[in-house]
Amino acid sequence: MQNFDVAIVGGGASGLACALQIKRLNCKLSVAVIDAGERLGKKLAATGNGQGNVSNKRLSAANYHGGGAALAARVIGGDSSLPLSIFNCLFVEDEEGRIYPAGRQASALTDSLIRELTAYDVKFIHPARVIAIDDSFVLKLSEGYSLSAEKVVLACGGKTQKQFGTDGSAYALAQKFGHKLTPLYPSLVQLKTDTTYTKGLKGIRVDCVVCARLHGSHLCSCRGDVIFTDYGLSGNAIFKISSALAGTDGAELSLEFLPDCRVEEIMSDIIKKSRLGYPDCELLSGTLHNQVGRAVIKRSGPRPEDIVKTLKNFTLRVTGTLGFDYAQVTHGGIDCSDIGDDMQSKLAKGLYLIGEYVDVDGDCGGYNLLWAFASAGCAARSITGMI
Ligand SMILES: Cc1cc2nc3c(=O)[nH]c(=O)nc-3n(C[C@H](O)[C@H](O)[C@H](O)COP(=O)(O)OP(=O)(O)OC[C@H]3O[C@@H](n4cnc5c(N)ncnc54)[C@H](O)[C@@H]3O)c2cc1C
Repeated sequence: MQNFDVAIVGGGASGLACALQIKRLNCKLSVAVIDAGERLGKKLAATGNGQGNVSNKRLSAANYHGGGAALAARVIGGDSSLPLSIFNCLFVEDEEGRIYPAGRQASALTDSLIRELTAYDVKFIHPARVIAIDDSFVLKLSEGYSLSAEKVVLACGGKTQKQFGTDGSAYALAQKFGHKLTPLYPSLVQLKTDTTYTKGLKGIRVDCVVCARLHGSHLCSCRGDVIFTDYGLSGNAIFKISSALAGTDGAELSLEFLPDCRVEEIMSDIIKKSRLGYPDCELLSGTLHNQVGRAVIKRSGPRPEDIVKTLKNFTLRVTGTLGFDYAQVTHGGIDCSDIGDDMQSKLAKGLYLIGEYVDVDGDCGGYNLLWAFASAGCAARSITGMI
């Protein structure tokens, strides 16, 4: 049976980055990366709508959620530039602080990692799923053979979008060592809402402030695109809001249309149109997307003050999400109270747990990849004795 210094289970963003950082710190260590998929780094190559949003300049502890949020803040240490040194390319930043490879091609990130790992002679084993790991770090593979390692890194991702090899079955590998799994919910995901007042708006995109409330208490709010769909709402504002709704029941959204227009301005625009003889259903025409305007007036009735009130607080009941198959990230994972600041298990020495696999999830905008790369770097330094 072949023995490696380090076996990394999962050749996604965190697993590949961990292998690379181990090799850069100590090229003599033998490293194997085992992945369930035909292609390594397949999800990384699909991130950011294919453009690879690897980090975000606007970084604070509040961008992370889950029981491991404080651990994430310590490991990242406020440094949004951590991922940049991993790749052999230039990066650019957009107006929202999102950092992308200058070529805006996520697949180039995967290529960069694999090229350098190949040069370092890292052993890639795929497609092969690790189905069991025993106490002496013998890894049993789905292909019918086993390998052993001195140290093992679990970088198996979460439970979202199983076409990327992440179906949640790998949590059992850590649970076998006594690690606990927190409840799992889809996050950064489209929301199902009551569609009574949004029928006929499918495909329309509007700029809104979205505010989420639970039983009357404010949860969070953000501004961005909202896209109406036949099941409810999509768009970047909805993705952002969805992470605050993970695990809730009975939440309500309030959409504020025309966030840059004051109530008095909108009111006088409506009154002017009314005096000019516009039919009731057209009182918002030209000011708000016509169909959305009609939906607002259908709900509010024709009185200008009611129209403005509804337009500034268009409430919709949340009935669910599109689920793990559509979500970008998993809220929940392996409980971080049994993981040290070097990402090593407190229950099994030499076992490391990194990336989305653990109970940390970030906001939309590059924060999840930043966590994947930062936790990978931290584990690599510990494995090579640098911390
Ligand atoms: C469509 C999409 C777009 C996204 N865009 C962004 C973005 O722009 N910016 C951002 O920050 N985040 C984004 N994310 C989230 C981000 O991609 C993930 O959080 C990140 O990839 C997590 O890295 P990871 O290494 O923990 O897991 P993954 O990258 O999911 O890798 C886990 C790997 O483990 C393998 N695996 C699982 N179980 C086993 C097993 N038992 N044996 C062997 N291998 C196994 C899987 O095949 C997989 O390759 C996006 C996610 C999706 C789905």
